[in-house]
Amino acid sequence: MIPGSFEYHRPSNVGEAAALLARLDSDARVLAGGHSLIPMMRLRMAQPSHLIDLGGCADIKGVRVEGAEIVIGAMTTQHDIIGNDALAAAAPILRETALLIADPQVRYLGTIGGNTANGDPGNDMPALMMTLDATYVLRSQSGERKVKAREFYLGPYDTAAQAQEILAAIRIPKPPGGHGYAYEKLKRKVGDYATAAAAVVLSMAGGKVGRIGIGLTNVAGTPLFAHDACAILTGSALDTASIDRAVAAAEAITSPANDGRGPAEYRTKMAGVMLRRALARAAARAAQ
Ligand SMILES: Cc1cc2nc3c(=O)[nH]c(=O)nc-3n(C[C@H](O)[C@H](O)[C@H](O)COP(=O)(O)OP(=O)(O)OC[C@H]3O[C@@H](n4cnc5c(N)ncnc54)[C@H](O)[C@@H]3O)c2cc1C
Repeated sequence: MIPGSFEYHRPSNVGEAAALLARLDSDARVLAGGHSLIPMMRLRMAQPSHLIDLGGCADIKGVRVEGAEIVIGAMTTQHDIIGNDALAAAAPILRETALLIADPQVRYLGTIGGNTANGDPGNDMPALMMTLDATYVLRSQSGERKVKAREFYLGPYDTAAQAQEILAAIRIPKPPGGHGYAYEKLKRKVGDYATAAAAVVLSMAGGKVGRIGIGLTNVAGTPLFAHDACAILTGSALDTASIDRAVAAAEAITSPANDGRGPAEYRTKMAGVMLRRALARAAARAAQ
């Protein structure tokens, strides 16, 4: 189908974009890579009268490491993330996860801002951002505010961002040197969204887990941060009994849909399987 008619705007920085969004109000949507929004417009599930294309906003594109923080501009594409060696050195799970998103064509245009701001529980980056304890920087005409990724997702396509706010950047605390990481994703075929996926970032000290983050993708109406599983594993030697308890705790917070990717019980169990695999790979990669 062909989208309904709309007026097109191309601001040259995020300040201009925020001013436009404030003026045009609820009739306007920002456009990033268009890989989620344009299909929704073609299906008439989204019918904005104004599209504010962020493609000209160079001030919210790119990656930099600022002291103990990694800052990723919202208009940075998945392809940019994969190709950024400094980022891969600081937090290699970002490259590993981006490589599991869709296919190269989608990754050339799809942005980290669109992926995380959209609120689609099938997107891979949100659970990773929760795992990494990222903070989202939201920009509106009245200024800037910060929201933790772990507090951002309220329901399917429902986030803590207000209609007039633009996600400008994501700030990620740099994981400690020697950390282990893994993103495990079960999908039906290349280019598919996850049946279930798990992200793990951990650091070990003296054979025990020092810090750990665990996120789950597409097994609930929102991405999930597995608090209880993290608490169980913190201080453990990642022994079988602790892992079993942590996996059970992670499975307990899932509530996946019965859909083409399988019945809910299966997807919950697959979340557990993905978590076991991610824990094993992360532990193998961590300095002990
Ligand atoms: C065939 C196919 C397969 C895919 N498979 C996967 C997959 O396996 N995993 C995965 O994670 N994703 C997948 N995607 C989605 C893809 O990663 C999208 O590109 C991404 O989710 C949205 O990013 P975008 O830049 O295209 O955003 P857009 O489509 O432009 O925007 C998406 C939504 O976010 C809003 N938005 C965009 N940027 C901002 C911002 N800076 N601030 C506030 N709101 C903003 C828009 O208004 C819109 O509502 C797939 C897409 C396709 C077409």
